[in-house]
Amino acid sequence: MPSPVILLVVAMMSSVMSMAVFGSLLRAAIPGLPRWIGANAVIAAVLVLLVRQAPAPAQLTIVVASALLGAAALMMLQGCREFFGLRPARSFEYVLYGALLLGIVYWGYLSPNANARIALLSAFLAYVRVVIGWIALRLRPPGRPKYCYQFMAGAALLGAAVHASRSVACVVGWEHQASFLEPTPLNIVFLGLGILAMPCLSIGAVMLAHDRMAERMERLANVDGLTGALVRRAFLVQAEALLQEARNAKLRLSIAILDLDKFKAINDVHGHAGGDQVLAHFAATVSSGLRQGDIFGRLGGEEFAVLSLSTGQADTVRLIDQLRVHVAASRLTIPSGEVAYTFSAGVDEYHEGDTLANMMGRADAALYAAKAMGRNCVVGTLLSAGQRVEDTQGESTTEQTNDPA
Ligand code: GH3
Ligand code: MG
Ligand code: MG
Repeated sequence: MPSPVILLVVAMMSSVMSMAVFGSLLRAAIPGLPRWIGANAVIAAVLVLLVRQAPAPAQLTIVVASALLGAAALMMLQGCREFFGLRPARSFEYVLYGALLLGIVYWGYLSPNANARIALLSAFLAYVRVVIGWIALRLRPPGRPKYCYQFMAGAALLGAAVHASRSVACVVGWEHQASFLEPTPLNIVFLGLGILAMPCLSIGAVMLAHDRMAERMERLANVDGLTGALVRRAFLVQAEALLQEARNAKLRLSIAILDLDKFKAINDVHGHAGGDQVLAHFAATVSSGLRQGDIFGRLGGEEFAVLSLSTGQADTVRLIDQLRVHVAASRLTIPSGEVAYTFSAGVDEYHEGDTLANMMGRADAALYAAKAMGRNCVVGTLLSAGQRVEDTQGESTTEQTNDPA
């Protein structure tokens, strides 16, 4: 059976290695990371202290070590809260920690009672780990893979179960320590599991940090920095997936192509930076008007597209026209003055056998028709059942337009 001192040395080394791995991620400025490093540093220091004084550390060392272990656990929890964008510190937890300190000093120093001290510390550690597990399970960002969040929650809850059992075992008297780290079988099991749970928690935190970095990289690759819309490639990938879903489930699917009117003139009057602000304002207005599940991409320059599943052309024309009215009525104030702008759009709907390119070609033709009609209008390709706007410009006809300016 491994001696408790060997288990402490292994735990200390794993904390040092966790610090090294967290340190390698520091440049990524992941929220919570400095607290995770701090927690591991405190744990490593505590373990060095205990190992140096083993097998019979002074009572004061035990008190200090217990207090620091509680502080490290709290730091780990605060790092998790920070990672998930929550306020890290909670005042009632400082009150709990204060009570823990009083108990540790009383049962560790004034009236030594190892069972009571361990029960109290273990209960505190169990509480901290339950909260970490709960946060990791509940606050996974939408769309992120479940695996690392579940791993973190599993590691935290495993640790919580070990600490809670140890606390109960001390209270009911199953575990009884006559001397420090007495190598009873139960003590070794608790120490072993507790020590296994610690690096698991750190590995979970490293996984979360990696997922945050992956999320950032995916965002950089898929989302246009100026407008927040999907870049063309990402839009086409997601659009193909929605098209496949529409084919399989026999759902309706509509596409709208939106293009800002006379945008070159806006650039000429307000400069490229002013034009950029108009693009950002336009994209924010459109995004806020779309339904959940709609996808919105920047096809290039001042041309955008919206794809809506389970939506027919008439509904999409209505939605885009509401946006058109809203945009036309808005006034954007930028350093060079006030800007009023409009957009035109062409809308098409999926029909059996269509490819995305077919649909986009027809929506583009409808957009061309909208421009030809004087701009600031929305044109759908369906005249009536069976009658379609062709994607050759000369044959374009329109279903619906709205007060061309
Ligand atoms: P129309 O109503 O026919 O669409 O006219 P338009 O002036 O909007 O169309 P045109 O294609 O002639 O001009 C588009 C302009 O958009 C030209 C280009 O310089 C500008 N543009 C493209 N991308 C950006 C960008 O990221 N920022 C800014 N400020 N301008 C851009
Ligand atoms: Mg334009
Ligand atoms: Mg254009």
